[in-house]
Amino acid sequence: MTARVLVVDDVPANIKLLETRLNAEYFDVITATNGPEAIAICERGLCDIALLDVMMPGMDGFEVCARLKADIRTAHIPVVMVTALDQPADRVRGLEAGADDFLTKPVNEVALIARVRSLSRLKVVLDELRARAATSASLGLADPLAHVLNEPKIKGKILLVDDRDSSGQRIVQALSGEHGVERETSPQNALFRGAEGDFDMFVVSLGLKDYDGLRLCSQFRSLERTRQLPILMVAEIEDDKKVLRGLELGVNDYITRPIDRNELVARVRTQLRRKRYADALRESMQASIEMALVDPLTGLNNRRYLETHLASMLQNVTSRGGALSLMVLDIDFFKAVNDTYGHDAGDEVLRNFAGRIKHMVRQADLACRFGGEEFVVIMPDATTAVAASIAERVRAAVEDELFQIDGGKSAIPVTVSIGIAESMGVNDPNLLFKRADRALYRSKSGGRNRVTADAA
Ligand code: GH3
Ligand code: MG
Ligand code: MG
Repeated sequence: MTARVLVVDDVPANIKLLETRLNAEYFDVITATNGPEAIAICERGLCDIALLDVMMPGMDGFEVCARLKADIRTAHIPVVMVTALDQPADRVRGLEAGADDFLTKPVNEVALIARVRSLSRLKVVLDELRARAATSASLGLADPLAHVLNEPKIKGKILLVDDRDSSGQRIVQALSGEHGVERETSPQNALFRGAEGDFDMFVVSLGLKDYDGLRLCSQFRSLERTRQLPILMVAEIEDDKKVLRGLELGVNDYITRPIDRNELVARVRTQLRRKRYADALRESMQASIEMALVDPLTGLNNRRYLETHLASMLQNVTSRGGALSLMVLDIDFFKAVNDTYGHDAGDEVLRNFAGRIKHMVRQADLACRFGGEEFVVIMPDATTAVAASIAERVRAAVEDELFQIDGGKSAIPVTVSIGIAESMGVNDPNLLFKRADRALYRSKSGGRNRVTADAA
């Protein structure tokens, strides 16, 4: 994944160093030597992530960060503060200024790449959320995902895998303020619990006694249930090779012992935010796909869904020499229902009608509202004879029981006319439709409330 990284430092040699390393990993690098210049670049939307040196003459890194986070045009850009190793208090100040992450000078190469990668993943979901929000706003709609971005604190359920008591307890304590943390000392149990429990994230020690923590990370990555969950590794300073290997395996981030409490909290927060946003996007995507394919009045699939599926179902059946029948149903004199009892009563009839069809057809059949008072059922592996008997059952079920209207206060008779056609080895959805429609027309002209099969 590539990203445009803004490197801000008043010392050109520092810029050069970071630029070279980031370029080697194919990140695009933009540079600035002071705060105002950096802010201008961010305002123009030219970067995805900003690396800010803390110590700069004029406007220091904290102030730049605070200004970026206070401006709605730039607040979403992840900011990494680059602090001096001997100034741990700077990390806290950076957090207070709204920074998303830290790096300490001299900047370790693995840390640099890990952090930039992790934050560019966060930026990707943030951009997507912002794009959705802009679309909703331009359509005059409320943004269904706005609440996710405005959550002040994201609370997660975290599984910590660490078999060292003192270290484990310290991590649990550091994270318990904001999150729910459970600690597990056995890697085997951890894998089981990770897959079974509803965790949001894993924190895995690479220093487990009789087990390779990386193996556990890779198992989490390969299990369906845990594949998407963020993992943070806890490493020793000398673990650089392992950490690199972990990042290649898809582990999201790492932290080095001795653990800086603020750093741990910030890293966990970044991962949970990204997960939260990605989950929200996925849910909203699913909801909009459903909305686009389901008729809201009856809950049946709509014409669009039918048309995409008929072609593939037909193809499937024809290729193995099977039969597929199409049933087209049209309610008789439905306009009169509206005219006599009102549009709401008409809607009640449509809902009830859809319910009866769904109840009558087989599991493998696909019932859709084609439009207005016209419905279609696709019946794979049904010959004309089978389709005709099912159609007759539907017809009778409509005629035999009155339809309630006015919320059950009265009931009216309704009938339906049906046309059916069998594919007969011909892989042509349009032709099949035409033939079923022709049969329906014969049912109508023959007196309605009947089933007609197209002869061929
Ligand atoms: P036929 O027996 O020949 O099918 O006569 P018909 O009255 O059923 O057919 P026509 O096509 O003349 O009228 C269909 C009516 O269905 C007209 C339209 O207002 C109504 N309609 C279409 N969609 C809806 C809907 O969502 N709700 C309601 N209440 N009525 C609808
Ligand atoms: Mg400086
Ligand atoms: Mg009709």
